[in-house]
Amino acid sequence: MKKIVIVGAGPAGNSCATAATRYGAKVVLIENSIIGGQAHIRDCIPSKSMIGLLPNYKDVNDKDSERLLEDKHLLDIGQKVQSISTQLTDNLNQLFKSQKIEVILGAGKLKGPNELVVETKDKMLSLNADAIVLATGSRPRVPDWCKPDGKQILLTRDVYPPPEIPDHIVIVGSGVTGVEMTHMFSSLGSKVTLLVSRQHVLPDKDPEVAAVLEEDFAKRGIGLLKGARANGVEKNSDGSLTVSCKDGRKLKASHLLLAIGSLPNSENLGLEEAGVEAENGYVLVDHHLRSNIPHIYAAGDLVGKLQLSSISITQGKKIAEHALGITAIQTHRHIDYEKAPLAIFTEPEIADVGLAEADAFSEGRKVRVTKVPFSVSARALIQGDTRGFVKIISDPITGHVLGGSIVGRHASEMIGLVSLAINSGLKVTDLVEAMSVHPTLVEVVFEAAE
Ligand SMILES: Cc1cc2nc3c(=O)[nH]c(=O)nc-3n(C[C@H](O)[C@H](O)[C@H](O)COP(=O)(O)OP(=O)(O)OC[C@H]3O[C@@H](n4cnc5c(N)ncnc54)[C@H](O)[C@@H]3O)c2cc1C
Repeated sequence: MKKIVIVGAGPAGNSCATAATRYGAKVVLIENSIIGGQAHIRDCIPSKSMIGLLPNYKDVNDKDSERLLEDKHLLDIGQKVQSISTQLTDNLNQLFKSQKIEVILGAGKLKGPNELVVETKDKMLSLNADAIVLATGSRPRVPDWCKPDGKQILLTRDVYPPPEIPDHIVIVGSGVTGVEMTHMFSSLGSKVTLLVSRQHVLPDKDPEVAAVLEEDFAKRGIGLLKGARANGVEKNSDGSLTVSCKDGRKLKASHLLLAIGSLPNSENLGLEEAGVEAENGYVLVDHHLRSNIPHIYAAGDLVGKLQLSSISITQGKKIAEHALGITAIQTHRHIDYEKAPLAIFTEPEIADVGLAEADAFSEGRKVRVTKVPFSVSARALIQGDTRGFVKIISDPITGHVLGGSIVGRHASEMIGLVSLAINSGLKVTDLVEAMSVHPTLVEVVFEAAE
């Protein structure tokens, strides 16, 4: 029986552990914080729980400037967020027990290419294995001009729930996390100013998609400070903060939130002792997620490819298959990062997958672009929300679906259909010929393929 030792019990480590056990391996899982990883307690799940539990922002607006939520309600929301995370961790613990996965609570570190030591509460253990998987995740990046205090100067991990409802929060970073946080704090009733370093939010997304979100932000009274890069923050004598930008602009606010990316947790992992190559702290891996030491793999945020739980889960499974020589599903599970779907849990939701129209344009590639607004959908009208659209990018000659963007209610659910079409090599005619239930939002996806 092959033995696999995994360091880190987040989505990457967990999916690897359960898959490897199913394939008959002996699995040891080492975790220094909590089963489920940061994804369950401080990043992915609590952020989506908070957003899901907040009232519709329209209700907040209806009350003019009066807050719908009070600070005391945060406690209640916080408890619900916590209970979702706890439930997920409990489920995992039960699954591991039933699969006989050995869980060791402690910090794992490579001592060389063939030895891993674990520092637990009361002892040091030494382990060896046929394969070692590093899946230690990442942590928020903090710039040198500011010191988060968990009260006024916040990291994303401090806000599930935030210590209080800010009067005015400045959010630094207008990528996926920054816009989700903007939506979240605006829904809480805070005045929000988002610093946008370029000319649009979500600089890597389809500009039409970003425009729908910006329009919605404007309606909600969210301030966008464009071309602004923060480079300082000071506490004032009245307790407020002054946030400075590189171009000299200054903003007074009650709180500041940083959403400017992450750094890999690789400092204390013994990479050098084991001779594992890394770049800027990210472990370098091949397409099988194997480091330069063939029996040492790495997955999830630690390899920094696409930092998503969904990708981490797929990578973990792929490692289990590769390390154990499993070819039952297909010769090698192939991860095509270009075809990974992505969602942003704002209001309306945004989701996309595959080739973007702008990228096709800049590559000089001829594509067919079809776009249908949700205003044509009976279901959207019934639900009273016709914002957004579905856009399908396809090959004008072969008809293959190459990409898609959806802005609107439940976009994160519907993008799965476009992802399936792209990853299965389907053509627009396949979508057109498939039938859907009426009236549903997903009909718009089929309509956009016409
Ligand atoms: C605000 C926010 C929202 C997000 N929302 C989404 C989303 O909606 N959808 C999505 O797909 N992704 C989302 N993500 C990304 C997602 O959370 C990460 O990609 C995912 O957590 C990475 O999984 P992982 O297994 O690599 O790491 P983690 O979840 O960070 O788990 C790694 C674990 O390893 C442990 N560890 C570290 N060092 C050691 C050691 N030496 N020994 C033992 N254990 C160790 C850590 O304590 C941690 O528990 C979000 C991220 C953020 C910050």
